[in-house]
Amino acid sequence: MPRIAYVNGRYFPHRRAAVHIEDRGYQFADGVYEVVGVHKGRLIDEKEHLDRLERSLAELSIPKPMARGGIRIVLAQIVRRNLISDGLIYMQVTRGVAPRNHAFPTNSKPSFVVTARPIKPFDREAILKGGKVITAPDIRWKRCDIKTISLLPNAILKQKAVEAGALETWMVDEEGFITEGTSSNAWIVTKRGEVVTRRTGPEILAGITRLKVLAIAEKQGLSFVERAFSKEDVLDAEEAFLTSTTSFVKPILQIDGQTIGSGTPGKLTVALLDWYERHMEGDE
Ligand code: PMP
Repeated sequence: MPRIAYVNGRYFPHRRAAVHIEDRGYQFADGVYEVVGVHKGRLIDEKEHLDRLERSLAELSIPKPMARGGIRIVLAQIVRRNLISDGLIYMQVTRGVAPRNHAFPTNSKPSFVVTARPIKPFDREAILKGGKVITAPDIRWKRCDIKTISLLPNAILKQKAVEAGALETWMVDEEGFITEGTSSNAWIVTKRGEVVTRRTGPEILAGITRLKVLAIAEKQGLSFVERAFSKEDVLDAEEAFLTSTTSFVKPILQIDGQTIGSGTPGKLTVALLDWYERHMEGDE
């Protein structure tokens, strides 16, 4: 299996791909990233991911590494050169290489890296096994809407989940409301059948899967609302699930060891996963 990475204008064998030790991504986590899913050779929601990448860059005043058309060519090349049918593309843009100094350099060029790796083809039954979440205080900064590579709090809290045998940590804000998972968005379905996820804002990342699932809910005539919910709301809910590019729509059956709803994947969760799969197939 060849593994090829794109680094600043050139393609390298993955094991030889590298950036400079004074890259501001390495020294300050001064950069942003995106993960795009590839399903049966097609990039899923490429436009939305590139929109979000450009927004993250603009919020941090990092210049675009190249025009959108150029980025799209690199993504297509990375898929082709890595022979990806089902997989994930990772792209990262940092403010570039400069002598270490907190203030932004005046003349650095952004560093742009793209890699890809294969994943197992979409497996409905495996996804529907679902999993558990734990909760923990949200210790991140106040601009979680920017998809920055500065992910140390997320990594620490994901590790807590792994150690607890859970899929995710749902982070809780100072008012006791769940913000999101460390790498996914959080959802419930209430007893009244209302699909609920937190509204976008500086407290969460505007997930692309979240956006698509909301669009599906609207199209299918489901009742849905964007509002914050607490752990008590989760325990009172009929269903819970998470969404992300890598997990799609995944049932959550327990929170901090307590069963949610029937303890099995909920009806609407399963329906949303099936509609989301159709979306990936290009049917919706
Ligand atoms: N929230 C966070 C903190 C994330 O890292 C991710 C995954 N990148 C998401 C939500 C889900 O976003 P998406 O659906 O675009 O993958």
